Amino acid sequence: MGRKSKGRRLHSAGYVVLSGGRHGRYEHRVVAEAILGRPLLPNEDVHHQDENKQNNDPSNLEVLLKPDHTRLHHPKQVVSLPCGQCGTMLQVYPCKLLPKYSKSGKVFCNNHCAGLFNNSRGVRGKPFDPAEKTDILAAFSSGLNFNQIAKRFNRSRESIRTLVLRERK
Ligand SMILES: [Zn+2]
Ligand SMILES: [Zn+2]
Repeated sequence: MGRKSKGRRLHSAGYVVLSGGRHGRYEHRVVAEAILGRPLLPNEDVHHQDENKQNNDPSNLEVLLKPDHTRLHHPKQVVSLPCGQCGTMLQVYPCKLLPKYSKSGKVFCNNHCAGLFNNSRGVRGKPFDPAEKTDILAAFSSGLNFNQIAKRFNRSRESIRTLVLRERK
């Protein structure tokens, strides 16, 4: 990203292009051909396993037949997974679990459930249980500030603040 070394540039689609020759070549294709020891066939694609188009380390590249590659990125098969917040079973495409779509590795019914999940996560990443909520609200009423409460309950200040502001409405 922005890193320009001699002979390498970034294509607008996000791939690294090696200059030289008349048009230059995609680096991931050049690396893949070096691994294979032969040119790529017209029905072969090079897949970046970590989805980072600029990571052309040989260990990250995989040569796939075009139809297999398309299926990998656009799986037709949906899977059943519970909503990470309310547990409702959802039908989702597996690609929705990739880090670029889901930071938590979970799926949610809607933004409402996703928001509740994110707000209830503390330092340890587990939701508040009802007894803990009561104790936190009591601590707030007794005059402790968010920082002090966060320390006492070993939670993030932000999660305490969110909880208190929500519950006091
Ligand atoms: Zn791919
Ligand atoms: Zn839900």
